[in-house]
Amino acid sequence: MRIEILNTGTELLLGKVLNTHGKWFGEELFKLGMRIQRLTTVPDGEAITEALRECVSRADAVIVTGGLGPTSDDLTREATAEVLGIELIEDEAAIRSLEAFFAIRNKPMADSNRKQAQVPVGADVMPNPNGTAPGLYIPPRLNGAANCAVFLLPGPPRELYPMFREEVAPRLVALAGLAMPPGLLEMKITGVGESDIQQEIDAELGLIPGLEVGYCARVGEVDLRLIGEPPAIAAGREVAMAKFAKNIFSEDGLSLEATVVRRATERGLKLATAESCTGGLVANRLTDVPGSSAVFTHGFVTYANEAKRDVLSVPQELLDAHGAVSEPVARAMADGALRVSGADVAVAVTGIAGPDGGTPEKPVGTVFLAWAAKGRETICVRQIHPRNRKDFKLAVSQAALDGVRR
Ligand code: ATP
Ligand code: MG
Repeated sequence: MRIEILNTGTELLLGKVLNTHGKWFGEELFKLGMRIQRLTTVPDGEAITEALRECVSRADAVIVTGGLGPTSDDLTREATAEVLGIELIEDEAAIRSLEAFFAIRNKPMADSNRKQAQVPVGADVMPNPNGTAPGLYIPPRLNGAANCAVFLLPGPPRELYPMFREEVAPRLVALAGLAMPPGLLEMKITGVGESDIQQEIDAELGLIPGLEVGYCARVGEVDLRLIGEPPAIAAGREVAMAKFAKNIFSEDGLSLEATVVRRATERGLKLATAESCTGGLVANRLTDVPGSSAVFTHGFVTYANEAKRDVLSVPQELLDAHGAVSEPVARAMADGALRVSGADVAVAVTGIAGPDGGTPEKPVGTVFLAWAAKGRETICVRQIHPRNRKDFKLAVSQAALDGVRR
């Protein structure tokens, strides 16, 4: 089944609102065994009519979002009626549910809201318990020539998401007369680059019949996507595991920080961080994870030399002799954080984010990471991530968390 999404709204094209619908629909439809054929974004106004005309001429189902509100720039209903050649009439039930929406909130209903009860003759009205605009479903039989199902959905995610799951998904499944959806396995890999991964396993994966392979590179992480029937996925997984078992940190969509928190929870370990160049990003990522309070105790952001000395007891002589970005200081930071916090594992990072401050021996992007753990020797590594400041911080936080995970 060819499915197209048409997102409407001038704010999406002015860069005021990030168009998150595409990503969301992509994932939801995949769970149903369907894929988006094309994703179109248009401003409010005449462009909707034009785009919808094209969509219905190509697709079996079109999902239109936005422009169902009461204001003058909300024109999706009118555009759809025009394209499909169906008249709009006021729907009794829709008017009643609008009146009820306002009555519950003790507010008078504005005249402009009446147009939200306009419905193409024969369309299904899909209730919207979270807002005023009902959704609309125009089945293929109503627009003979196009033979395309059209769904009109409200723009706000809190209205759209439940309506999709309750009203749209079952209709799509019925339309598609679906077989079993294919499986998906997403393996998250860190510590190796995309091209290295590809070089190692791509040819071998290509030999597995019925397996679709995809890579998505992020900062400090590559997602390997395997799609197909279960045996094909299992064979692909084996190939990836044989080469990268140590680097694969998640097979269920879990982020690196969530993996770290889960493992620490399972093992009953407490964690602390001592950060210089990442400015608290490692701690921030850990505390993004629900339940992190069970494992995360202290996040020290010691940016200045005095802070490293006074808070973590890094000896002034080390700072003077080696500089803040050095192996001895990284080690002393990790050891200090472990001691002060009383945690079981502490990670420390100190580096040069740039754009200034590099030297020939320690160019911009140089970082020292150290991990200290109770009863174990402290480990330190030197890495280089010559990137902009934001990506540098992200890449370093990734390496820091990966070390804690291991
Ligand atoms: P309303 O009654 O609120 O006007 P509507 O159905 O007319 O609803 P829009 O006006 O297009 O929908 O969008 C309302 C809000 O919903 C937008 O300001 C935006 O915050 C959010 N929104 C709309 N489309 C998207 C999208 N593609 N991605 C993310 N958010 C969106
Ligand atoms: Mg609107």
